[in-house]
Amino acid sequence: LNSYVGFANLPQQWQRKSIKKGFNLNLMVVGESGLGKSTLVSTLFNMPMYGPKEKKDPGAEVPKTVNVKTVSAEIDEGGVRLRLTVIDTPGFGDFVNNSDSWKPIVEDIDRRFDAYLEDENKVHRSMSNDNRIHACIYFIQPTGHSLKPLDILVMKKLHQKVNLVPVIAKSDTMTEEEIITFKHRILEDIKHQEIEIFEPPRYENDDEETLVENAEIMASVPFAIVGSTQLVATPDGRSVRGRSYPWGVIEVDNEEHCDFVKLRQLIIRNHLEELRERTANVLYENYRTDKLTSLGI
Ligand code: GDP
Ligand code: MG
Repeated sequence: LNSYVGFANLPQQWQRKSIKKGFNLNLMVVGESGLGKSTLVSTLFNMPMYGPKEKKDPGAEVPKTVNVKTVSAEIDEGGVRLRLTVIDTPGFGDFVNNSDSWKPIVEDIDRRFDAYLEDENKVHRSMSNDNRIHACIYFIQPTGHSLKPLDILVMKKLHQKVNLVPVIAKSDTMTEEEIITFKHRILEDIKHQEIEIFEPPRYENDDEETLVENAEIMASVPFAIVGSTQLVATPDGRSVRGRSYPWGVIEVDNEEHCDFVKLRQLIIRNHLEELRERTANVLYENYRTDKLTSLGI
């Protein structure tokens, strides 16, 4: 079984920046129902983060707003512990009119900033709790067209508040050529709409290998994702996490098949610390300044 998550080198990231506050990651997932958010989270951290689906009672009232649901886990890899919190947003995009779908999401992000601000202002600080969102994976439906108006609306509401990481959901439903064209269109939309997506900073002391690896990661944005926690048999007799089709097997962990590994590299292995730093030094600082200004402080 592939139990690799990829944060065993976190101590190096920390050492590099000489920040030793502990290893926690607060990850938000946003996207329409059924695009594979829960599956991707379980795939990323190689553990079932969510129980079996609750059966929907046909008579039950359908929620009229987007929920914000939080699950936490502690994962251990090579003696390194990561405290992971995933913030899910079920209900997003499910309504006849979704123009307010972003509100509960933005409210949750702001509430986390407010709590941090309050902590900061206490005389006896207990800054051990950083519940701010460090990254937000935004799931784009694999339509092959371009971003939908809802995608643009929501990304614009989020991009100044979280590190946005756009992904193409269920990319196994598209051909390789379709994915290439779709990626181009999405990037054009993002540029045209002036939506800011997360880009790791460059460091002067980065070595050649790191620069090349980072460039390769960023060249794959928006990541074409396939999620699966199921082990399937390949024609050559390997057992891999993937999805089985009459024409073959799509392997989650194979970089020739999809960008899952690159997404994991970005979020966990290579840039977790940069995500946290940008959250603290740019996104939170902007929020704080605006807030204090609006209060006349
Ligand atoms: P969520 O509503 O966004 O959390 O979506 P789920 O993770 O519950 O997935 C919805 C359905 O899509 C399930 O039947 C999954 O097995 C399936 N699914 C999840 N990820 C993928 C994927 O990458 N490709 C395909 N083809 N199906 C997927
Ligand atoms: Mg889900």
